[in-house]
Amino acid sequence: TTKTTQTDGLTVERTLVLVKPDGVRRGLSGEVLRRIEAKGYTLAAVELVQATPELLERHYAEHVDKPFFRALVDFMLSGPTLAVVAEGNRVIEGFRSLAGATDPTTAAPGTIRGDLGRAWDGPVMQNIVHGSDSPESASREIGLWFPAL
Ligand code: GDP
Ligand code: MG
Repeated sequence: TTKTTQTDGLTVERTLVLVKPDGVRRGLSGEVLRRIEAKGYTLAAVELVQATPELLERHYAEHVDKPFFRALVDFMLSGPTLAVVAEGNRVIEGFRSLAGATDPTTAAPGTIRGDLGRAWDGPVMQNIVHGSDSPESASREIGLWFPAL
């Protein structure tokens, strides 16, 4: 997860993207990868993972005290997740932009969540994807999901 500021001014970063169990179940893994690649980012790692409660408690540590935390963990345990490391210029912010707002109902059309997410399928927002929100988060999350990287 090194951030390299190159002589040409580009800031090449890595971010952790997850296609959550709703996205995998609905056959949208390829669509998410397609959008990442179509934008011009590259795939540094891709792995289908069955998450564990321990992994999710660390991944979502910032949310442990939220009322939706248990439902979020149960949802994330409901099937496999496609874990992806995407790389490119300012990809952390760029992927968040591709993903759109957290709530699929108000996420802008054209975004992954706006086009594909569903708020009504269960107690947790079925919003298809996760993307790291800062360089510190990206580094921490890539370490959790890809300990060998
Ligand atoms: P993100 O960074 O846009 O994914 O949003 P957050 O980090 O705030 O929340 C993590 C995940 O928890 C979201 O992607 C949703 O799946 C879920 N979530 C967030 N806020 C709520 C909420 O208010 N209610 C419910 N049910 N789920 C939520
Ligand atoms: Mg978040």
